Amino acid sequence: MKMRGFAMLGIGRTGWIEKDVPACGPLDAIVRPIAVSPCTSDIHTVWEGAIGERTDMILGHEAVGEIVEVGSLVKERKAGDVVIVPAITPDWGSLEAQAGYSMHSGGMLAGWKFSNFKDGVFSEYFHVNEADANLAILPESVDPAEAVMLSDMVPTGFHGAELADVQYGDSVCVVGIGPVGLMAVAGAALRGAGRLFAVGSRPVCAEAARYYGATDIINYREGDIVQQVLERTRGRGVDKVIIAGGDNGTFAQAVAMVRPGGRIGNVNYLGEGESIRIPRAEWGCGMGHKTIAGGLMPGGRLRMEKLASLLETGRLDTSRLLTHRFRGMEHLEEALLLMKDKPRDLIKPVVIF
Ligand code: NDP
Ligand code: ZN
Repeated sequence: MKMRGFAMLGIGRTGWIEKDVPACGPLDAIVRPIAVSPCTSDIHTVWEGAIGERTDMILGHEAVGEIVEVGSLVKERKAGDVVIVPAITPDWGSLEAQAGYSMHSGGMLAGWKFSNFKDGVFSEYFHVNEADANLAILPESVDPAEAVMLSDMVPTGFHGAELADVQYGDSVCVVGIGPVGLMAVAGAALRGAGRLFAVGSRPVCAEAARYYGATDIINYREGDIVQQVLERTRGRGVDKVIIAGGDNGTFAQAVAMVRPGGRIGNVNYLGEGESIRIPRAEWGCGMGHKTIAGGLMPGGRLRMEKLASLLETGRLDTSRLLTHRFRGMEHLEEALLLMKDKPRDLIKPVVIF
């Protein structure tokens, strides 16, 4: 049977293609999307060539869907289940997963399969490996469009707060307040951050950052962000920095604004260049106890179930991220281009099939 999908045809080129519906392995599932969202990572992949050349690869890795088929060894998921699909679907038997780094199962970043080295979710059907371990049931009270934010935006932003190890009362600066950074703000606030700086320039994002718990907004277009943070902290800087936007130069700024003993958690996807610069003096000539951690979000079913409980109990509201809602698969291209162009009123689009 054939299906249609919206694909990367090559670096810088996208379009609709037709492919065979994927086959279901014994542990796997075939899922029909109900709601999907394009990611800034799709933009890095297609237009910056960040992961190299790909030909006719269906895009997308954020979805809620309905299972249409499960493999013979799947025990807990069944056809008809409505599920949250994490962007990262690890191989849970791998040594990396056993070591606690399931996102790198099978090799660095290899837990990221959709729209990386296999077809993604912008399609009539898609394949999910290890259905029992990777798919979480969508709670009945949760809107599928809002739950799509659990695939990637919430776990990535929250992982930024984990990587930075935000503690009660910490002063925190979140650099970048697109949907990922906004969820980093929300995650840092849930973990007990005190003063919470949010760096961005678009008013729609700044307002949302305040809603999610930012105490101070810093506009990077209105002067050096390091200076702005130092001025507002009487020269001391912040305990923790979460990088969720900007470019390679943001690292130097993060190192400069974090206090000795502080931590930087990076979840930004660096799409260009050979290396990043760490400023020597600001890094304490190598002795500043300023830790830099960078990571791909953790995926899998348990993480999805725990994050879904935050929506179910009302502790987190992702509806605020959804500035553009489209109905119908034919709007996928439009939604993806919004992520590329980032109009002033956009935080995140969602496409409901
Ligand atoms: P957006 O492009 O929507 O947001 C980027 C943010 O960074 C905006 O607030 C933007 O400000 C701000 N920004 C841009 N330039 C600068 C600068 N020079 N200094 C400070 N801030 C700046 O991206 P997303 O939120 O969608 O994604 C953020 C990153 O996370 C992307 O690189 C994405 O690929 C990555 N990602 C990583 C994942 C992981 O697992 N680690 C998973 C998913 C995404 P404004 O627009 O207001 O001017
Ligand atoms: Zn993504």
